[in-house]
Amino acid sequence: MANCPVCGNSAQIDNSNTHELKITCSQCAKFAITDVALNIIPKDIYPNWSQKLQEYIRMNQSSGFVEITAARIKAIF
Ligand SMILES: [Zn+2]
Repeated sequence: MANCPVCGNSAQIDNSNTHELKITCSQCAKFAITDVALNIIPKDIYPNWSQKLQEYIRMNQSSGFVEITAARIKAIF
């Protein structure tokens, strides 16, 4: 177990792909986020970025992993 990069809770993280993390988190649910996407989250501008991202993941939840790419981050924030 490691910590979810979005909410900080313990989560199951598959990092077998070097450029994307697949996270199964009890709080955020299942999502995949690229390393570029993680790096461009505007954390300074949006103190509530984590909540915003969790809402997006919840709203787009399907049977698989919700894909979070850099383009998606730019669309969300
Ligand atoms: Zn989480």
